[in-house]
Amino acid sequence: MTAPVTKAAPPTYRGRFAPSPTGPLHMGSLYTALASFLDARHHLGSWQLRIDDIDPPRAVIGSVERILSGLKAHGLLWDGEVVYQSQSADAFERAIRELGQSGRLFRCRCTRADLKKTGSCGQVCVTQQHTDDAPHSLRVSVDRSLLTAFEDSFLGPQTITVEALPEDFIVKRRDGLFAYQLAAAVDDAQPNFTHIVRGKDLLDSTHRQRWLHAILGLSSPQYAHVALLHGTDGNKLSKQNGAPEVDLSQTADNLRQCLMLLQQAPPPASARNPQAILEHATANWAPPLHLSQHP
Ligand code: GLU
Repeated sequence: MTAPVTKAAPPTYRGRFAPSPTGPLHMGSLYTALASFLDARHHLGSWQLRIDDIDPPRAVIGSVERILSGLKAHGLLWDGEVVYQSQSADAFERAIRELGQSGRLFRCRCTRADLKKTGSCGQVCVTQQHTDDAPHSLRVSVDRSLLTAFEDSFLGPQTITVEALPEDFIVKRRDGLFAYQLAAAVDDAQPNFTHIVRGKDLLDSTHRQRWLHAILGLSSPQYAHVALLHGTDGNKLSKQNGAPEVDLSQTADNLRQCLMLLQQAPPPASARNPQAILEHATANWAPPLHLSQHP
C-alpha cells in the first residue's frame, strides 16, 4: 500500500517583483528584485514575477526578454509562469465599477496644461460632475478618514501626509489606460500577495493603494520599502534616467554589490557563483532597517 499523499501547505508568504517593461534590468532594479527575492525566500515564501505591461506607450520592445534573462543570469528564479498585468483588465474594470458605485469616482477634464497651471484638479471637476463624453480621466475623491497609518517592515511606522494622499488621484487615464495606482492596488491585494518589497519612491503610492484597498474591501499586504540607489549624478538609478543594463558578465560581483548596499553580511569568498551567493544571502537575510535613515 502506498502512503497517502499529503498536500504541501501553500506558502504563507507570497511575494513578487513587478517591473514595468520600459528597459532592461539595471543595478537599481536588480537591487530591488534581490531585496524582494531574499525577503521571500528567507521566509520560505513564493516569489512571483509580474510584468506591469499596462502602459503600452512607455513599453520598450525587447525589454521583457532582457529583464527575464537578467534575472535568470543572477539566479533570481521566480515561481510559476510569468504573470502579465494586462491580463487583469477585467478585474481593473470591476474595481472601477465598484468605485463608481461607492460614489467616489468623477470625470476630470483637466488637461496636462491645466494641471501644470493649477497643480491639481482642485476639486473643480468633482463639483461640476461632468456626464458628457468629452475626453476625461477618472479620478477618485479621497476621504482620508478611511485611511490608517501602517507599519512598514523596513522603515517602521508610516503616517499619512497630504502629499501622499491628495484630495483626488487618477485611476483611469484620459487615453483609456488603467492608472498604475489602481492596477497595483488590485493586483497586489491579498490573497494574491501577502508581502510587497519595493523601492522607497513608491511609499506615497502605498498610501493611495492602501486607501483603494479600504474602499474596495480588499486586504492590504504587508509593505516594506528599500532606499533608492542613486547614480553619480545624484539622480535615482532608473530606466527613465537612462541607467545602463547590468553587466551580465559579472553577475557574482553585481550581487555582492547589491548585498553591500542592502547592508547584508558579505558572502564568503568561496561563494563564487550567483547560486552560492544567494544561498548565503537567503540564510543570513536581515531586514535593512537602518536604511530608513537615508534620504
Ligand atoms: N511596475 C512599477 C515599477 O516598475 C511598480 C512596481 C511596484 O509596485 O513594485 O516601478
